[in-house]
Amino acid sequence: MHILVTNDDGVSAPGLLALAQAMRTVGEVTVFAPDRNWSVSGHVKTLDRPLRVREVRLADGSPALATDGAPSDCVALALMGLVEEVDLVVSGINPHANLGHDVTYSGTVTAAMEAVITGGVPGIAFSLDSPEDYGGELDYGPAANLARRVVAQVIARGLPKGVLLNVNIPYLEAGDVKGFMVTRQGMRVYRDVLERRLDPRGRPYYWIGGESPTGIAEPGTDFGALAEGYVSITPLQLDLTAYKALEAMKAWDWD
Ligand code: MN
Repeated sequence: MHILVTNDDGVSAPGLLALAQAMRTVGEVTVFAPDRNWSVSGHVKTLDRPLRVREVRLADGSPALATDGAPSDCVALALMGLVEEVDLVVSGINPHANLGHDVTYSGTVTAAMEAVITGGVPGIAFSLDSPEDYGGELDYGPAANLARRVVAQVIARGLPKGVLLNVNIPYLEAGDVKGFMVTRQGMRVYRDVLERRLDPRGRPYYWIGGESPTGIAEPGTDFGALAEGYVSITPLQLDLTAYKALEAMKAWDWD
């Protein structure tokens, strides 16, 4: 079992190291991550410039690959031949949750999407639901251990073709996590505010600000699971077709 480990926070992020160390107990690991933070970069394919890859060391001294491309570029490069025979791609551990509509913004989740698109191999995104205002250093230990258990299940059972997993882990002590819950996407509530300011030369610029997003903790959803202290596991697919609308629109008078 050869596992490719990536993330969107950059190759020096502590969540990546924790995930890589956990994956080494499951199989052979190659770490290949962006050389900088690409959080909230969405799904990227870099076609307009060359991509450089260099060998680096993680904080524990183990070798890794880093590129100046995006998280999804890392996965695409690896699966197109830069890394041989990858069976599974895992991404994370992101310090903050990726819930509801976040999945299309998230570099963590879109890296897992790329696994399905380019490699036809399972992709799993891991995110930690740490408080937005958490000041200290995060402890990724319990989350990494839970990630290992999710990966063990996926290896044992396999995933249907084209399916990736978006896994969100509550920021709790290991003994306080209630268990695992398979969920659907919930509803994010964004509270973005457009800030218009003036630069030193009097020209306007715009900044998307506002408070952190919240969500609706409906039972059965990713938000609901986290609110109850469960690890949320949401199977995702890339067919975004709105089938009900498709059927209804066929009846429209198109001619
Ligand atoms: Mn991130």
